[in-house]
Amino acid sequence: MIVTILGSGTSQGVPVIGCNCAVCKSLDFRDKRLRASVHIAIDNRSFIIDSGPDFRQQVLREGISSLDALLFTHEHKDHTAGMDDIRSFNFLQERDMPVYARKQVLDQLKQEYAYVFAASKYPGVPRVEVHEIKNEDFIVEGIKVTPIEVLHYKLPVFGYRIGDFAYITDMKSISDEEFKKLNGVKVLVVNALQQTPHISHLTLEEAIDFAQKAGAEQTYLTHLSHKMGKQRDVEKMLPENIAIAFDGLKIAL
Ligand SMILES: [Zn+2]
Ligand SMILES: [Zn+2]
Ligand SMILES: [Zn+2]
Repeated sequence: MIVTILGSGTSQGVPVIGCNCAVCKSLDFRDKRLRASVHIAIDNRSFIIDSGPDFRQQVLREGISSLDALLFTHEHKDHTAGMDDIRSFNFLQERDMPVYARKQVLDQLKQEYAYVFAASKYPGVPRVEVHEIKNEDFIVEGIKVTPIEVLHYKLPVFGYRIGDFAYITDMKSISDEEFKKLNGVKVLVVNALQQTPHISHLTLEEAIDFAQKAGAEQTYLTHLSHKMGKQRDVEKMLPENIAIAFDGLKIAL
């Protein structure tokens, strides 16, 4: 399995429009963060988790030329705004794009993309094959996926576990029951927004605690705000098996 970090930034991305802070002005490519998303290549299958506003740019950058499924974590715009661009895969692959999400997320997608779900469709609109998922294992193109339900303030969000890899974004808290699903995970990607407290995201300190409790061999932090600091400075604050993700990072497992 190869996991590629398509985007490691929070909802506004980094740099932030109009911001002159040191992080937004940084010349380090690792401080340029598109909105949070990952690509997973496994057994000749190609999946993406979340299609945020930078979806097209991310797919082009990584040269992703096939996509077998799109999974959504939750309905926030920084995770859904790029779905229109699955059209390119519809044309290439001559099939509807399988989309996996819980009902609440699908309902939101139906509002945001009413034309995609219209009974009579305009020619050329994105074509989706909807799969409503619940908090139970499901199979995508022969690959088992386990949802991990977390809370983003009060909003339920799905993290996903595929084999020894788990991806959790936009989490503030998790129940003990759901936490057990991380047992034995080798690589964990989890959100860490900034160093100061936030109502709906883990802080750096909370994410480190979480990672240590989860005990993955390697953890990467994602969904960073410009307030977190520069990659170069923050990585010095981390224990050995925890690192900051960056756009384009590839993880083999
Ligand atoms: Zn987000
Ligand atoms: Zn800034
Ligand atoms: Zn969110």
